[in-house]
Amino acid sequence: LLRLEAVKKRFGGLVVLNNIDIAVGANELIGLIGPNGAGKSTLFNVITAIYAPTEGRVSFRGKDITGIAPHRISRLGIARTFQLVRTFLTMTAFENVMVGAVYGAGGRVKHATEAATAALELVGLSARRDMRTAHMTLSDRRMLEIARAIASDPALLLLDEPMAGLNPTEIQRMVDVIRRVRADRGISMLWVEHKVDAIMKVCSRVVVLDHGEKIADGTPRDVTQNRKVIEAYLGEPAA
Ligand code: ATP
Ligand code: MG
Repeated sequence: LLRLEAVKKRFGGLVVLNNIDIAVGANELIGLIGPNGAGKSTLFNVITAIYAPTEGRVSFRGKDITGIAPHRISRLGIARTFQLVRTFLTMTAFENVMVGAVYGAGGRVKHATEAATAALELVGLSARRDMRTAHMTLSDRRMLEIARAIASDPALLLLDEPMAGLNPTEIQRMVDVIRRVRADRGISMLWVEHKVDAIMKVCSRVVVLDHGEKIADGTPRDVTQNRKVIEAYLGEPAA
């Protein structure tokens, strides 16, 4: 579905991503972990064309999309959430999700309304449909970002720390929603998270970045036992 080949991203003299190869297949749920500053969010910004890579190639559904205009990304079938939530504060939950839905439906309002309603239902926000997002909790706003993303009917969803700042009950709700999105819609996901326990429990494949390099790519078991990953990020397991 998505393929990154030898992707490099440099900001001035700082190499933030170096020689990254990642292939994401249909209906895969892949955890993306690594220390602060490893380049995880930058990788999402490259995939969503906010930044063009300095070198390398991004392709989606077999088509080279390196350096395309960012506004074309949702129409292609890629959607995302943001590390710092970005909802339109003066708009209601429904209106926020409609923004995503209209892109997916290509402007057909009836279809978009149905897609937005279904997306709110899927994340459990139907009751807050008409609430302005300025009045919503962080957890609900993170859910709303997922609803807005899936309302555009993407084939690939990028989640940037959807659990950051959530309490244990909200984290469990998020796990349920991520599982439901995958089960109901078959959307492939790349999921950046510092809550490593959740990643290891839910994902069948985990990619680890450190200082812009991919240092591991395998099952949770492989990654947890990988010496480089332990040294860079996970720390020594308890004796
Ligand atoms: P975190 O877990 O803290 O979110 P991350 O893995 O998402 O970290 P990035 O946000 O991708 O890390 O940042 C990687 C590096 O790139 C950091 O050193 C950051 O300061 C740098 N960086 C990111 N965006 C820019 C930019 N637009 N200009 C210059 N440097 C940038
Ligand atoms: Mg980040």
